This record gives sequence, C-alpha cells and structure tokens, in this order.
Amino acid sequence: MFINKAYNFRIYPSDKQIEPLAQHFGSCRFVYNYFLRKRIDFYVENKGKEKQGLTYHDTAIMLTQLKKTPEYVWMNDVNSQSLQQSLRRLDIAYNNFFNKRAEFPNFKKKHSKQSFLVPQAFEIDFEKGLLHIPKFKPIKIILHRETEGTIKSVNITKTPSGKYFASVLCEIEKVVKPKKKGRQIGIDLGLKSFLITSDNERIDSPQYLRKSEDKLAKLQRHLSRKIKGSNRKNKARVKVARIHDKISNQRNDFLHKLSHRLVSENQAIFVEDLHVKGIMANHHLAKSVSDSGWSEFVRQLKYKSEWNGVYFGQIDRFFPSSKRCFSCGWINESLTLKDREWICQGCNQVVDRDFNAAQNILLFGQNMVGQELSKPFKRSGRGGVVRPLAELRS
Ligand SMILES: [Zn+2]
Repeated sequence: MFINKAYNFRIYPSDKQIEPLAQHFGSCRFVYNYFLRKRIDFYVENKGKEKQGLTYHDTAIMLTQLKKTPEYVWMNDVNSQSLQQSLRRLDIAYNNFFNKRAEFPNFKKKHSKQSFLVPQAFEIDFEKGLLHIPKFKPIKIILHRETEGTIKSVNITKTPSGKYFASVLCEIEKVVKPKKKGRQIGIDLGLKSFLITSDNERIDSPQYLRKSEDKLAKLQRHLSRKIKGSNRKNKARVKVARIHDKISNQRNDFLHKLSHRLVSENQAIFVEDLHVKGIMANHHLAKSVSDSGWSEFVRQLKYKSEWNGVYFGQIDRFFPSSKRCFSCGWINESLTLKDREWICQGCNQVVDRDFNAAQNILLFGQNMVGQELSKPFKRSGRGGVVRPLAELRS
C-alpha cells in the first residue's frame, strides 16, 4: 500500500523574499474567496435549473480569463499552479460539505494561518539546506530529518505568529500485514477525562496543556478590550498567536504519544464517530468536541492503525452507548448528561458512565467486524459475551 506522510520543516525567507511570499499567500487567499463567492452567487441565480453549480473546471477557465483583465493582471506574478491549487482546495471543501464530511466552506481571513501549495517544479537541496520553488530564489530550509519515499508536493505556510514552514508531502510504499497479537479496545471520548478505554484506563489532557489554555483565555480577554487597529491590539494579537502555537505543539505532542501507544498495544481499536457524538449531545458538548483535539486524535489513530496493520473501526451510527448496560443489556432511558454513575435495574450493578460506554463501543465494534476478524481476537477487560447486533440496536 501507499501511505502519505507530511514532514514539516521550518523555513527562513530572506528580507527580499517576505514580500513575494505575502503576495503568494494573498493571491491564493483572494482566488479562494473570489471563487467561493462566485460559486455561491451562481447557485443562488441558477437554483433548480439543469446546471446549478460551478465545477472545478468552470472556475479554472474563469481564472484564466480573469488574469487577462487589466484589473487582475497582478496575479501573473504568482505561480499559476499555486493559484489553481486554491481552486482545487475550494472544490474539495465543497465536496466535503456535500458529502456531509464538513461544514460549508468559510472565507479565508488575513489574520489566520496562510498557505499556498506548490504541486510541482520544486526541489530540495539536502546538502545546502535550500528549497527551490518557482518564482523564488532558493529559500533557507532547516532539514532536521530525512524524508522517505517520493516527494509529491510542498505546502508553504505562515503562522499568525509570523513563522514560516514548508510541509513536504511524501508517498511511501509499505507492505502492511494485519496484526495478530495484542488487545482490542473500545474508546469513549469523555468530557471529564480526555478518554476512557474499555480496559478502564482514564487519560486526562496533561496539566501543562491546561495551564497554557487558561493563559490563552486570559490573553484573549485582554485582546478583546484593546482598541481596533491600535498598536496595542496588534501586539496583543501576536501574543495570542504565540500561545496558540504553543498549545498546538503541546497538544500534538500529547496526541501523538497517546495514539502511538494505543496503536502499538492493540490489534483492534474502536471509537465512536465524532459527528454522531456531537449531534447526539447538546450545543455545549458539540463545541468541546470540536475544541478538544478529538478529531485530530481520531485522525492519528486511523492512519497509524492503517500503517501498522491494526484494525480501526469507527461506529458511524446512533446506538445507545451510554444508556445501555454493557453486562446485561438493560437500557436506562432516564439517563441524563449529568449522571456519571447509575444503578442498573437489570443486574443491580453500579455502572460507571464512561467505562460502560467504552465497553459498549468495543462490543458494538466487534459485532460490526463479524466472525472473520473477531475469532482470533482475545477480549480484555470485564464481560466477554458478544451480544447479537439486534440486541445492541434496541
Ligand atoms: Zn446491567
């Protein structure tokens, strides 16, 4: 199988390169926003007609025309392939929305992370530490590790705190055999803890991460009190951007270590679909689902599982993981979000909400996989009876 791996390298553009970089970021953002607007307008004007949406191809033709007009001639200073990639990204965002994988695309903002993609005609000089991309003199790059496989593209980014990076996407060919050893777990992504496994392991976000998050909240309150456009506001914005960087580094570190450990310990991992989880709960919970890094965590679990032959199953339908007692199947219809523990009227046991949910996710996941995979597996934790699917759904 082929796997994609991205390597992130810091780059240090010279003073002379800052301006053309800004021009690339700005033009790609412009193209994205301009055609997002065009796509929305086209739909509003043509709703119900035979052709009611613009395709990638339509927008590519429109872009070529646009660059010929005197008003937009400045776009010719920018790598044309990077501009086209903005259209591709917009198209992907649209498809993700229509296939219910994402929200409707947003307009890109100047103060957010900036990026442009270089799909070809790039070169990395590993000896001299230089990155060659079209329209630029070589850019200094810190290659702190070697890349593997074939380089497919280079994505240049600038963080709101003012740092530049080149993300190098590589395609690696790998032979993966399904893992036959190790445990199987269900994971419930909790509110009090970061997660709870069916082995009754509770993992919290690290203390240092929570401290940084408190600090961010404080800085954001400061920022909101500053006058718009003032020097103080800009300074406060940079401070906020820096702490954002720090938090995302700390969180990534935590998530990578955790996902790595879980994948190496297990041969099958089951989690709930986050989209379903968000919908099932109230607005407050839906927000923490999007903030807590769970979606990044699930993404990491998924690709690391694929790379290591671990079975990864996401339960993508509604089932009463919290309400159902995992050991006897009794359903607690009166369970609310506040209840951390409840007494099962089927088997008289005290049921811990999150642990019970993790157990149910494991059971449901194993059922989903069926006989073919579940036979060689050894279950861990309490319980042990795999219940019929019909019963789980009730
Ligand atoms: Zn019970």
